[in-house]
Parts: sequence; structure tokens; C-alpha cells
Amino acid sequence: MMTELRKRCLSCTACPLSRTRTSVVFGVGPERCDVVFIGEGPGQQEDLMGEPFVGAAGKLLDEMLSIIDLGRHNCYIANIVKCRPPNNRDPLPEEQDACIGYLEQQLSILKPKIIVCLGRIAAQRMIRPDFRITRDHGSWTERNGVYYTAMYHPSALLRDHSKRPDAFSDLLSLREKLQVLQIHP
Ligand code: SF4
Repeated sequence: MMTELRKRCLSCTACPLSRTRTSVVFGVGPERCDVVFIGEGPGQQEDLMGEPFVGAAGKLLDEMLSIIDLGRHNCYIANIVKCRPPNNRDPLPEEQDACIGYLEQQLSILKPKIIVCLGRIAAQRMIRPDFRITRDHGSWTERNGVYYTAMYHPSALLRDHSKRPDAFSDLLSLREKLQVLQIHP
């Protein structure tokens, strides 16, 4: 199922981002998993390599995951839009609208128990439109048996080290939620 969806996505031209991309960055991870991380869209390295969260931000994400004994092999990583917005600008609402169906279908296949939004754009799209990452990071929302939270995007943590203690406490909160839900990735 995921293979079919991926194939369709890789040839998508539903929004103007298709004209400037190098690769469609579909997402990566096992076909069934309990924890999904969602960013906003591919950056330059991701666009070149066709994989989400590579480069410096990806390395930091890997380090963050290792703090709570998670790894890429036991969670899924995807983005709100699958093609890189030029100059790493925020994806426009109409681009998000065009692309979000792919993510929704990915989630219906994956059936995660926890969704972790990385940064404001993903949190506003997946949790609620007025989500403020500086105020609301680390909070939890339950919807239809799925637990949603958000933490700072690794790129923000690379730019601003003062946010790292907050990111660390959000990771501990995620670890606690994994324990409470008896998820052993
Ligand atoms: S961003 Fe999404 S909707 Fe737009 S072309 Fe890429 S895959 Fe299609």
C-alpha cells in the first residue's frame, strides 16, 4: 500500500513546487510503527538526496532520538509538503492543502499512536491552527486515540542553542508517554 502511494507521490505535479524540486521526499521508516515525526518540508540536502532530515538538522534529530532510545529504524519521518519550497521558505497554505492528502494516507497506513510535530508549521497543521511553538511545545493533545505533541524543529535548535533545554525536556516527556502507553519501539 505504501509502495503504491509512494509511486504516485513521486510523479506528483499537483502544486508549483513540482517545478523547482530535484526530488520528491516522500518519507522514510517501517510500514507500521507507533511513532511518527513530521516536519514542514524538505530542505536543500533533503531535496538533493530524496530523504527527510538529512544534513545537519537530520544529524541533530538522530542525536535527539538516541537520547530516548529511538532510532530511524523504529519510527517514521515525513513532512507536510513533499517537495522543497524555494530558498527554504515556509510552505504556502495552498501548497500544504495540495500535499496533505499524501501525509493523511501515510498516517492511515502507519496507524501511529504518537505523532510528534517538529516546528510551528507542522504543529499548526496537525494539532491546531493557533498552536504557538514557543508557548505550546511539549503539550499533549489526544484525538481518536492518537497522541499529538510538538517540539522545536532541529533547524531552530541549530540556530538557537538557548532552546535546547526545552527540547530536552520535551524529549523526556515523549519518553514518558512511550512508557505510559507501553510502546517499546
Ligand atoms: S509538494 Fe506535494 S502536492 Fe506539491 S508537487 Fe510535491 S508532492 Fe505534489
